[in-house]
Amino acid sequence: MKHFQLKDSHGRHINYLRLAVTDRCNLRCFYCMPEKGIQFLDKKELMTYEEMIRLLHLVKTLGVNKIRITGGEPFVRKDLIHFLKEVKKDIQPTSFSITSNATLLHHYMDDIPDLFNAMNISLDTLDRERFFAITRRDNYELVVGNIQALLRSGVGVKVNAVVMSGKNTQDILPFVEWTRKENIEVRFIEEMPFNGSRDSKDVSNWNYQKILAHIKGEFKDIETLPTPPSSTSMMYQVKGFKGKFGIIPAFSRTFCGTCNRIRITAKGQLRTCLYSSKGTDLLPALRSDMPDEQIQDIIINAVLHKEKDGFEAAERRFGPSSIYESMTTIGG
Ligand code: SF4
Repeated sequence: MKHFQLKDSHGRHINYLRLAVTDRCNLRCFYCMPEKGIQFLDKKELMTYEEMIRLLHLVKTLGVNKIRITGGEPFVRKDLIHFLKEVKKDIQPTSFSITSNATLLHHYMDDIPDLFNAMNISLDTLDRERFFAITRRDNYELVVGNIQALLRSGVGVKVNAVVMSGKNTQDILPFVEWTRKENIEVRFIEEMPFNGSRDSKDVSNWNYQKILAHIKGEFKDIETLPTPPSSTSMMYQVKGFKGKFGIIPAFSRTFCGTCNRIRITAKGQLRTCLYSSKGTDLLPALRSDMPDEQIQDIIINAVLHKEKDGFEAAERRFGPSSIYESMTTIGG
């Protein structure tokens, strides 16, 4: 096994892996996938938990110490909780987190507090009807109930809310109001074109400046909070409020200069940028008798060719107007 700090050709240290454990989800958010869903991967095309654990060992000695589990919806994958416990015990990442839509958390509330200090929950509205309109599923009460259960158990909650014009902009101020009494973090995310049927011209015009101006129009006393290195979220707090809010300029891509992350999709494809359409398939290597060091070399080489930023990655796609695949196939 090689011991080496992953670095790209732009001098950025890569220590953060977003690992997708499935491409399946039990919601149908219109900005992520078509109503009918997508052609999901066959079981044999998916990485097994053993293959994922091996990969995590391989990248650990390459300096990856921050791991986020993503999907689709991670908890739709069978026996996920055992895998999460194994990652925590065997890989021992310095930072271990997960992004979920919270629809299934009530099944795992006994285990979650031992696994995570905080969870990222995707929730785009505080209104049941808009929830149904966005996700095409009637799970609003379940999600909010599970968020409350997390908070009662002492697990921190970071809500990710994608801002979409004509869909949920009326939720922006109620979300900030939620942070008055609740010690949560609400992060507003610019909409991105990853829904399997649109191109980049179709995304909402609610960029980070517009979102912040809208909030400042209502809440006058807002403090700007320090932003940790490589963080994608600009954080704020309304004076006297328990919680915080943040804005993630995911389409404006203002944070790429300090990017420290790579992604591995559920089918074992290494993506060096969210906006890149191409990746490096690791599964054939994992399923061959290729030695660990050689697989590490594939990862090191892929990272060396990491794009400068999300614009360069989008350009390298088949030209600026290509159709973007569904976010559930990448892992967010
Ligand atoms: S858009 Fe690409 S380069 Fe920019 S932060 Fe995201 S993954 Fe990194």
